Amino acid sequence: MTAKQAILVHACCASCSSYVLEHIAETFEVTAYFFNPNIHPDEEYGLRLAEMRSVCDGLGLRLIEGDSPKELWRQAVLPYRDLPEKSERCWTCYRFRLEETARIAAELGIPLFTTTLSVSPHKSYERIVAIGKEAAAKHGIEFLAEDFKKKDGFKISVARSRERGLTRQDYCGCLMSLEEARKRRDAENT
Ligand code: SF4
Repeated sequence: MTAKQAILVHACCASCSSYVLEHIAETFEVTAYFFNPNIHPDEEYGLRLAEMRSVCDGLGLRLIEGDSPKELWRQAVLPYRDLPEKSERCWTCYRFRLEETARIAAELGIPLFTTTLSVSPHKSYERIVAIGKEAAAKHGIEFLAEDFKKKDGFKISVARSRERGLTRQDYCGCLMSLEEARKRRDAENT
């Protein structure tokens, strides 16, 4: 039997990752990488990390827990703080996380990486691919471009999170997205 090719998968949260990791693991030898200094507040970060550990344990996958340089991330997105979701604010956030994932993959000798981010309908697939490829080229590796929301991927990921009792928050992760979600809720309730 031929050994599967190794891949490092940037995993943004357990609810997006459970289906995507399972799907990628059908073809590749997956190592998941949790690197998400965007997540606010600290309690939410702890919750998402704990759920990620549980998902990876359940799937029998190795999980690498990255550090969380929150201040560096904050400085990177600060110029775009007042822009809405799906703007330069998010492209900078994708870049911050994907460049570090590519760097770690290269350091570990894993020649391929990808991210679970594309399973979300709130993310720009085109930007993820462009930024992922740039990050890969910078570190001499390849980026696996796959739109995980396609072929009912998003629907399946929602079903998997329900089955596994995972938290599905109504905000992406950062403080700005939390504030935007609060405003949406307030507008719905008036
Ligand atoms: S909305 Fe999500 S992708 Fe955009 S900056 Fe915030 S955490 Fe990052």
